[in-house]
Amino acid sequence: MSEKNNAEKNGDDPAVYNVHASLERIERYEELNNFITVCGGRAEQDAFNASAAKRSGYDLPLYGMTFSVKDNIAVAGVETTCASKAFSCVPERDAEIVEKLVNAGAAVVGKTNMDEFAMGSTNEYSAFGPVLNALDKLRVPGGSSGGAANSVAARQVDFAIGSDTGGSVRQPAAYCGVVGLKPTFLSSGRNGLIGLAPSLDTYGIFAQDCDTLARIFGAVRGEETKVETDGSGLKIGIADEFLSQRLESGVERSYLRALDVLKKSGAEIVRIKLPSVRAALAAYHVISSAEVARTFSETFSDLNINALGAEVKRRIVMGNIVVTGDNYDDIYIKACKVRAKICSEFDAALKECAVILSPTCPTVASELGSMRDPDKNHNNDIFTSPISLAGLPAVSVPFGRCDGMPVGIQIIGDKFDERTVLSVGKTLESNDI
Ligand code: GLN
Repeated sequence: MSEKNNAEKNGDDPAVYNVHASLERIERYEELNNFITVCGGRAEQDAFNASAAKRSGYDLPLYGMTFSVKDNIAVAGVETTCASKAFSCVPERDAEIVEKLVNAGAAVVGKTNMDEFAMGSTNEYSAFGPVLNALDKLRVPGGSSGGAANSVAARQVDFAIGSDTGGSVRQPAAYCGVVGLKPTFLSSGRNGLIGLAPSLDTYGIFAQDCDTLARIFGAVRGEETKVETDGSGLKIGIADEFLSQRLESGVERSYLRALDVLKKSGAEIVRIKLPSVRAALAAYHVISSAEVARTFSETFSDLNINALGAEVKRRIVMGNIVVTGDNYDDIYIKACKVRAKICSEFDAALKECAVILSPTCPTVASELGSMRDPDKNHNNDIFTSPISLAGLPAVSVPFGRCDGMPVGIQIIGDKFDERTVLSVGKTLESNDI
């Protein structure tokens, strides 16, 4: 704020001043490898336009803010790579979400690094090299929206836009110590997003805190999203199925402490049953791979397959296998049935409580290179993928630490109830130590 005042006193445009501050931090922390493309000229133009609109009396809720965009989302005139050597395009139009954010007064400063085509959990599957976690450069930032989460953690931008198919916003938010929201499936348009699996993909937003995130979400939805910390009488659901998973001890401690904080704030803890979430990860990989295979054969049929990374190739092969011959009924349809059960179990559970709490991930950010084994890598999504299958909104909020790194707590809500999800997030945030 005081920086803005100084800028105004010096006769500078405050929004342009913030863009320059953002670009300066992107350069200063270049070694983190958060950005694939920086678009300073575009950002300055957005800021000029916002200032002109403001002078003409427009109310711009995001005026003066800067943001980054994951490199699978279109920014007009800027290359999109999906972090792949096999793909490149320069879109003519902004993605729908980018357009809304810019119309609300924000400026887009660059495209962030990610796992190739959004497949991964560590950001090590990028053709542009790994992203280094801003809190510990020997660790991963999570994925697939690793550069996006890390650009907020390194304060290079005020907020970031990513995509979440099975956890790619919530998981890196947890690893980088920022807030990450995956809204209700199909609650905002996906034009301009090169997705991974159309029945699961959503946009997601990263910010430093729940209030800021609510402001950005409100601008995207075109209605104010007010968060509050009065949790009295709120019912919070907990499921044994989440606790019986193997958790790093510090993660379990933070989770139990989060429940305690919410109890002290007046919430009531209720036990719910989600037996099918145990099969969620397997169902997620079957369904998402089948959709990936289809997307690649229909949309990217002219891609140079040889230039794709091993993980993308692996998923295309797996996707083709699960829909072929007897596998279609034995594997694919079975996975769809598991998904249907998960949806009805969450539906029933959310009649008993307003939100459900789980850890975002079983561990904190791992060391670079330690998760090369795809099975280990996939296990990161054990708590996030069921929510994607059910299409529910969820936020990851940093709460407590383990091994010096932030722990993420996932708050899951009923469809279109992002407000309660963010309000519970804010209660945790204000009681974090
Ligand atoms: N980590 C998950 C996967 O690799 C999720 C990816 C995503 O949400 N885009 O499939």
